[in-house]
Amino acid sequence: MYLQSRFFIKALNKASPVVLVSLCFFALLGCEQSVKQRVYTLEGRTMGTTYHITAVVKPGVNIVENPLQIEVDKLLENINQVMSTYIVDSELSLLNRVEANKPTVVSEQLFSVLSLSRAVSDLSSGAFDITVGPLVNLWGFGPTEQKDQQPEPAKIEQTLAQVGYQHIALDKERLQVTKTANVYIDLSAVAKGYGADAVAELLEHHGISDYMVELGGEIALAGNNASGVGWRIGVEQPTLAQTGVIEAVTTLKGGIATSGDYRNYFEVEGRRFSHTIDPSTGYPIAHTLASVTVVAASAAKADALATAINVLGPDSGYTLAVNKKIAAYFIIRHKDGFITKATPEFSQYRVTL
Ligand code: ADP
Ligand code: MG
Repeated sequence: MYLQSRFFIKALNKASPVVLVSLCFFALLGCEQSVKQRVYTLEGRTMGTTYHITAVVKPGVNIVENPLQIEVDKLLENINQVMSTYIVDSELSLLNRVEANKPTVVSEQLFSVLSLSRAVSDLSSGAFDITVGPLVNLWGFGPTEQKDQQPEPAKIEQTLAQVGYQHIALDKERLQVTKTANVYIDLSAVAKGYGADAVAELLEHHGISDYMVELGGEIALAGNNASGVGWRIGVEQPTLAQTGVIEAVTTLKGGIATSGDYRNYFEVEGRRFSHTIDPSTGYPIAHTLASVTVVAASAAKADALATAINVLGPDSGYTLAVNKKIAAYFIIRHKDGFITKATPEFSQYRVTL
C-alpha cells in the first residue's frame, strides 16, 4: 500500500503561483519496498532560494543522512563562491573586476558554465546573454539597490552599449577567459541549474542513481521514485487564482527548468516588469508567454534554454525550439486564461496525470 503525497516546490517570490509541482510517491512504513530501500529527503537554502532533494537509496548503499546534508551544503556553498555576483569576493566577482584584454585562468566549474552560456547565446542569437548584468542591475533586479520604477531611456541605451556575450573569449585548453571589452557577467539564469546538476553528480558519486534534486525550481533527476516508476514533475498554471497541474513530465535522466515572467518582477501603475531582460532592446521582456518549461540533458542546459526561449517569446521562442529540436512546453496568456503548446520533442516526456 502506498501513500501518495504531493510535494509542492516552494514558490520563490512575492506573488508567485508555484511553477513546478513534483508528484512523488513515498512508500509507507511496513510496505515491502521500504524494507529494501530507503528514501532520503534533504532540504536547505542556497543562492537566495531553497533546494529539495529526494533520493531513493538501494539496499547495500551506505549513506549517512547528516554527513550527506553537510556535503551538499558545502558543495553548494562552493558553487556560490564561484558564480555569485552577490558575493564580492566570488570567483566571478573577481573576474568581473579584471580589466579588459587581460587573460584570466578560471576554475573548471566557472569555465564550464561560461562555455554552456556561450553555446546557448550562439544558439539563440544573443537572446540569452550573461553580459546583460548591468541592465539587470539598472532595472533593480541585481545585487545593487532594488528599484520600483523604470530607469531613464538614455541610461538604458547607454547601459545596453556595455552588453555583448561576444566580448568573452574562452580558451578551453588553458581554461582561460579574456574579456575583450569591459563586460560584467551575471550567471543567475544558469547557476541554479548548474547547482542542481552538481548535487546530482554528488549523489551519483555516493552510488545513488534514483533521485530528484530541485534548486530554485530547476530540476536534475535520474532513475525512479520510491514506488519504482519515473519521477513525475508537474507544470502548474502560472496564476494564483487557477492552481492545478496542467502537464506532467518525466525523463530518465536529465534536467527540467521553467522560465516565467511571474516569479520575480515589479509593477509600476499596473505594468509588470520582469527580471528577464531582452538584450536586443535593454528592456524587460513584454509578451504573452507566461512560462516555458524545457527538458534537456542537464538542468544547467534546461535552465539557460528556458531563459533564452522566454526572452524570445511565444512565437520566435517556439520557432527556435522547434528548429533546434528542444523539448519545450509553453503556457501563453490568452484573453481570460491560458493556451498551451509544445514542441514535437516534448511529447516523449509527457506523462498522464
Ligand atoms: P527564470 O526562471 O525566470 O528564467 P532565472 O533565475 O533562470 O529566471 O534567470 C533570470 C535571471 O537571469 C535574472 O534575474 C538576471 O539576473 C539574468 N538574466 C536576465 N535576462 C537575461 C538574459 N537575457 N540572458 C541571460 N541572463 C539573463
Ligand atoms: Mg534560467
